[in-house]
Amino acid sequence: MKVSEDEAWAAFGRRDRAFDGCFVVAVLTTRIYCRPSCAARRPLRENVRFYERAGEAITAGFRACLRCQPDSVARDEAAVQRALALMQEADEPVRLESLAEAVGYAPHHFQRLFTRAVGLSPAAYFRSLRAQRLRRALEENETVTEAIYEAGYSGPSRFYEEAGKQLGMTPSAWRDGGRGETIRWAVADSIVGPLLVAVTGRGICRLTFGEGEEALRRRFPKATLVHDPDAPLIRAALEAVAEPARRHDLPVDVSGSAFQQRVWAELRKIPPGETRSYADIAAAVGQPGAVRAVGTANGSNPVAVLVPCHRVIRSDGSLGGYAGGLDRKRQLLRAEGVELESPTLL
Ligand SMILES: [Zn+2]
Repeated sequence: MKVSEDEAWAAFGRRDRAFDGCFVVAVLTTRIYCRPSCAARRPLRENVRFYERAGEAITAGFRACLRCQPDSVARDEAAVQRALALMQEADEPVRLESLAEAVGYAPHHFQRLFTRAVGLSPAAYFRSLRAQRLRRALEENETVTEAIYEAGYSGPSRFYEEAGKQLGMTPSAWRDGGRGETIRWAVADSIVGPLLVAVTGRGICRLTFGEGEEALRRRFPKATLVHDPDAPLIRAALEAVAEPARRHDLPVDVSGSAFQQRVWAELRKIPPGETRSYADIAAAVGQPGAVRAVGTANGSNPVAVLVPCHRVIRSDGSLGGYAGGLDRKRQLLRAEGVELESPTLL
């Protein structure tokens, strides 16, 4: 045996799964042999024999335990190895059912087996693989978006949705000043001057003009603020701002009333280079009479540029208001190629 009898006895005593496959434990009183991790009651040491291979126990007249099935250890290990290889080769997440079928196990049983051997469920393992690929792709690619696709995500939304499952800000945290949340932030230059960008694991929670850490601290007094200009989502947000004519697909993590949320969602549907009137948005959210309320919801949009409230103008073609100042609104629209026809009204 590769391990001493004392080591084997100790491993057996603590039901150490790491030793499954290294040896089997045969019990003289029951004539049964087990893997070291078997859940059965421990016999007296004088009643056990250790064998490196199950075959030796069988030759000595022992039968395999029905509970821990010591003969299946090698088969289990091979199945896990094969599943790992399948996932490493796959570009898309492999469903548990297909994985289990490929290695010849029932899904539920295989899930447990895999998780025990690897320390992660198959799904979690695939996510960690993809996160590694993303880190590599981020080093090699110009933009975060390219890297996200290259790492095998179907798109930025999908990526952040997955990232946000563990990390997103909960509604209660929003109400409570960001308690328990980590918010990453940076201030960076843009075509419309310095921008504050702040993100949670779920999305962009703030993008504003002329603000800094103190403003963020006032808004989220109980959150942990981390200055992190290299955070992928911050980089992606700044890339999106720098390319105003391109549609982007970045997640936002904002909190507002149901009406505000509806207005902001509607804003995100306006393509770059187009504008809508406040009345258009009011009609689109099903409240044609609420033009003024739309204006207010527009003004309280916490994620400027990417939730494009600058694309909403007055029905007469004049710009209306803008939290960041009308100069910026004009600049943003021009950068997207909007013709501002009636300069006298601007
Ligand atoms: Zn057993």
